[in-house]
Amino acid sequence: MEIRKETNVEVSGVPTAAQLELINSHAKGKLTAEQVYVFSLRLCDDQVDRDLERFDTAALPALAKLFIGKTGIVDHRWSSDSQVARIFETQVVREDGVSYIKAWAYIRRGGHADEIIADIEAGIKKEVSVGCAMGWSACSICGGAYGECGHQKGEYYDGQLCCAILKEPVDAYEFSFVAVPAQRSAGVMKGLGTGKRTLKDLAEEFGAQGEYRALFKEAQLGREYRKELENAVVRLCLALDLGAEEPVLRNVVKTAGAEDLRKLKAALQDRFDQMYPVTAQLPAMGGKESVVESGFLI
Ligand SMILES: [Zn+2]
Repeated sequence: MEIRKETNVEVSGVPTAAQLELINSHAKGKLTAEQVYVFSLRLCDDQVDRDLERFDTAALPALAKLFIGKTGIVDHRWSSDSQVARIFETQVVREDGVSYIKAWAYIRRGGHADEIIADIEAGIKKEVSVGCAMGWSACSICGGAYGECGHQKGEYYDGQLCCAILKEPVDAYEFSFVAVPAQRSAGVMKGLGTGKRTLKDLAEEFGAQGEYRALFKEAQLGREYRKELENAVVRLCLALDLGAEEPVLRNVVKTAGAEDLRKLKAALQDRFDQMYPVTAQLPAMGGKESVVESGFLI
């Protein structure tokens, strides 16, 4: 899961002696304090963002380490000659109940880099986009894998807002200076795989956001339907007292194909109806589905 978030540059200037030592551990030649420009940036924190996601507080130290040595590039060009800055130190800072990764980066002065330094000083390149890969995201309500539990980001459950918690950092990528402060609704790019473009990116680029959103919603409905199907099969298995425990049944249905699940549900339903014909004939129940629902949602 690739994550990209916008962040801000804090202006600094000349490195301290300790910073210069760290910088030189990353630089090829030995640089002097006059040759480098140092600035800091806030990479990511553990607060819920506009995507209703947040980084796991416990994941920040490992993620901070992954950012050390990563380069900063102008715009989103991934070519080596446009790399201008390098992160030489990171630290997890805790302030007012918020934990965040603070990074220090340097730019080697001279030539093209001086223009970027001037832009940073002038506040033009204050926005930075950072990317990383996270292992998985957990649902804040139940702790399960988000997307598999049925809870939805942005919904409230017993007064608690559901969000996705990004866990287990895998890698950190280059950061990019964004000349124009992010104007896209979320200012975030995400996708699967490393450095690959996502369907969402393409939809944005070619003005197909509406279609993308419609597809996304349909996929969500599809997932909900599947979840219902899984639940129905598990309930029927339990109702028919097949002997397997619920966690076992849940694991089995999770990996089953949708078509097989539908067939299994129909077969179980038939068996259930044969065993409990009286319940099925109750006039108020209105359909097989509700017999199972009302019979076993005690
Ligand atoms: Zn959940």
